[in-house]
Amino acid sequence: MRRLTEIPPTAGLPPRLSDLLASRRDLAGALSAQLGVDNALVTCSGTAALMLALRVAQQRQPRRDIVVVPAFTCPLVAIAVRALGLRLRIADLAHDRLDIDLDSLRAQLDERVLAAVPTHLGGRVTDVAAVNRLVAGSGIVVIEDAAQSLGATIEGRSIGLAGDVGFFSLAAGKGLSTYEGGVTIARDPSWLEAMEALQNALPKQAAFERRRCVELIGYTLLYRPLPLRWAYGSPLRRALKHSDPVGAIGDRFPMEVPLHRMGAWRQGVGANAAHRLPQFLDARRRCALSRIDRLRAIPGVHVFTDRNGERGTWPTLLVRMDSAHRRDAVLDRLWTSGLGASRMFIHALPDYIELRDIVPRQQCPNALDLAARTLTISNSPWLRDEDFEAICQVLEAS
Ligand SMILES: *Cc1c(COP(=O)(O)O)cnc(C)c1O
Repeated sequence: MRRLTEIPPTAGLPPRLSDLLASRRDLAGALSAQLGVDNALVTCSGTAALMLALRVAQQRQPRRDIVVVPAFTCPLVAIAVRALGLRLRIADLAHDRLDIDLDSLRAQLDERVLAAVPTHLGGRVTDVAAVNRLVAGSGIVVIEDAAQSLGATIEGRSIGLAGDVGFFSLAAGKGLSTYEGGVTIARDPSWLEAMEALQNALPKQAAFERRRCVELIGYTLLYRPLPLRWAYGSPLRRALKHSDPVGAIGDRFPMEVPLHRMGAWRQGVGANAAHRLPQFLDARRRCALSRIDRLRAIPGVHVFTDRNGERGTWPTLLVRMDSAHRRDAVLDRLWTSGLGASRMFIHALPDYIELRDIVPRQQCPNALDLAARTLTISNSPWLRDEDFEAICQVLEAS
């Protein structure tokens, strides 16, 4: 029977119409209380947060102009580096892990390197302490990309505080959403102050903010299983029919990154929704943990989980198959099924044609392998147990 609903690929916090009343005001305050920090800076996107952090890094280290990022990450990270006139270097991931490979990272470091960007992928916690040890005393800034992992902790503390700066994304589908948005935290308040000063100097862009308000209203109305069939599922199926997987998961971004301040109304909407976030993350965690064993019992299937001291979030279950062929066979059946199975990013950075002028040609076999063998299973509250079981049966039959 044809489904009438579409499960979103990640567990976004379901918006409520009443959020639009924006009765609360203080998004930064709500999030800093949840994250256990004194201050947080709200930005217009995660990418904007990264750019502001890199600008401050440059103010402090004007002779450095290179940023090292993992070879498997969001294309927007590469675009942000380019938009600032900085140069990108990539480091491979560690074999069969989501952490950056320390030898590969070390090989990219020299006195021109401004920043390294360890990245918490898919809700999992990456080992920032290892990167800190590697760059200790070198003057290289460590920026934690926690775009996908708002709410994750290490040893009971929010991620984002082990490096110099950490940022989270509030984009559509990334947990808490203001349609586009970001939030930054830092151990040393001078980082947030410097970033805020840069942000306050940005032009107002009232027309652009109005557009974002309309988009947030649209998101609030459409982010539910029935309308998502049309708003998310149809374009996805159309793109895949035209053999455009990059378009299908929305991995193709403009080279211009909008930089402005998030308006007060959208911050209020976000603050209303943020109120429900801790409970939501707890429920998603219980659901994910209850499903992992079923997946693990399937031969050739690996699920990425937390290590000692880590407590990640669960937007998806990130699954690695034993072969690229098998991953592709599974997605052939599942990707267009409406069940929320998808991919995190289509390629490792060197394989995006769109980024060929930005990303250096470099060997990164582990990142390529991860891109080829992983898929994501949505951990949305709308994915029922019988839907999950249907996904498991496709994995088993492959
Ligand atoms: C989404 C994402 C970003 C960019 O965040 P936006 O809020 O979409 O600008 C950066 N890094 C990673 C790993 C991401 O997934």
